[in-house]
Amino acid sequence: MPMPNKQRKYIAILGSIMSGLGKGILTASICKLLQLKGYKVVPLKFDGYLNVDCGTMNPFRHGEVFVLDDGSEVDMDFGTYERFLNISMTKFSSITGGKIFQHLIQKEREGRFLGRDVQIVPHLTDELKDWIRRLGEEADADFVIIEVGGTVGDLENSYFIEAIRQLSYEEKYLMVIQLTRVPSLSKGEPKTKPTQHANRLIQSLGLRPDAIVCREDEPLTKEAIEKIAQFANIKPEFVYDDPTVGTIYELPIILNRQGIMQAISSRLDIDPTPPDLSSWCTLVNRITSPSNGAVKIALVGKYTSTRDAYASVYESIVHAAAHYDVKPLIDFIESAQLEESGPQQLSGYDGIIVPGGFGKRGIEGKISAISHARVNNIPYLGLCLGMQLMVVEYARNVLGWEDAHTTEIYPETKHPVIDLLPEQKTIYRKGGTMRLGAYTMQLVPGTVAHSYYGLELVDERHRHRYEVNPEFVRDFEEHGLVISGRHKDSGIVEMVEWPNGLGIGTQAHPEFKSRLEKPAPLFLFLIEKALQRRNNSKEYLCNAINNEENEQRAAK
Ligand code: GLN
Repeated sequence: MPMPNKQRKYIAILGSIMSGLGKGILTASICKLLQLKGYKVVPLKFDGYLNVDCGTMNPFRHGEVFVLDDGSEVDMDFGTYERFLNISMTKFSSITGGKIFQHLIQKEREGRFLGRDVQIVPHLTDELKDWIRRLGEEADADFVIIEVGGTVGDLENSYFIEAIRQLSYEEKYLMVIQLTRVPSLSKGEPKTKPTQHANRLIQSLGLRPDAIVCREDEPLTKEAIEKIAQFANIKPEFVYDDPTVGTIYELPIILNRQGIMQAISSRLDIDPTPPDLSSWCTLVNRITSPSNGAVKIALVGKYTSTRDAYASVYESIVHAAAHYDVKPLIDFIESAQLEESGPQQLSGYDGIIVPGGFGKRGIEGKISAISHARVNNIPYLGLCLGMQLMVVEYARNVLGWEDAHTTEIYPETKHPVIDLLPEQKTIYRKGGTMRLGAYTMQLVPGTVAHSYYGLELVDERHRHRYEVNPEFVRDFEEHGLVISGRHKDSGIVEMVEWPNGLGIGTQAHPEFKSRLEKPAPLFLFLIEKALQRRNNSKEYLCNAINNEENEQRAAK
């Protein structure tokens, strides 16, 4: 139901008190509700850091680097937006401190402000407002939903919040949502004071939140809601609970149930009827209470404290598992530790994934996991580095080339089965210089990969510098490794398969295109094969027989 004479509307989502409250999930949930009402929604994220993009950030500190079709390396929240909305976004939805300053300084160097001293207000804030408006126009969106990274009060996002303040005066329809934290020191005692102060801080910046979403430890009491509402000058109905959820995909349902559409419609003058969430609920139910039991998946990577480094892989498993109505029990396994313990501990898994990565640590552990999967017919999915190591493992253990390796790790090897892409050999600059973004691959009919994609030409996103060395491809094929996909134009090997049909490796990152409503084909492959393995396992068959006997006994 796009608006007649499109009057574009804006929602700004501000985080208060502390980071890590789930602003990205809130933003994606609000976008989803509006999308389900038939509106065209475009999210925009502002990140205050001075990096131009996320390309050079360490995923173990900052979370995964997400890649868009156009090759931009962006914040992991983009993954959340795309997964919720089932849309593909562009670099124009991402503004970082570094990007906007670079843009402004470039204009200054071009003489576009001749005679003027260039200032935060109005020059930088004008750039920001132009950017926001242009994004809405170019996407022909009904709504631009702006997530302001960081927390109100940070130095890094202050000029961005100032731009929103100006926009709120210039645009008829701009709504502000405050995300806040309401802790309970003891049961039944939610503390609203931090929220009151944070709200006052936002008001001191010239913005007044129209709705407040509260991350809490327990459902807000009536008194707490009323107190927050009173201090914020809003109706109590516009204060919402944001409880800890079983799955992030529940949040749109929870907010909808509490009537968040009322707050949006009252400020932005749209029809308040809640959207139809029935098919979304069906998918969410399959995540929270699947009827097909569980499969055990091992994700063998490099781990430190944050698991956000593999967020898209994790979510892709969730999507594919929801498709088969099965619960994925995902264990993160430190590959360096497999080097000491050996890969036997992987025997109990129904599927193994080696995700993308860089550098040496844990490499041999990953290779041993792959070997264990191949020899024991455990379904395997290799993503980027996980595919490259699948090729290394095959070279060592099937072709008998003991020293085979990727030159990223062992440049002197006599069998450099994975080598630097030719065009990478002269690139020294960092940031945006890998083979990035969507490339079209041509799949070979009759292969397992082709049967899951159901298409010959597929686009997947990339982020790498190395490739399967074309010199050795013939040797691999002669020893049974199936080359199931190549880049349409250059012939770069994009997809390989084991002859047993249970292992696929791809040079791409299919996890960047998996959505709850449209799981990635290769993850469907892994979960379906994992289910088959589980169903055929002795333990599962014994349990099934026992259950049946118990049921028969109970019936008698
Ligand atoms: N390090 C490997 C390369 O650059 C793999 C990259 C990845 O897994 N994203 O090619």
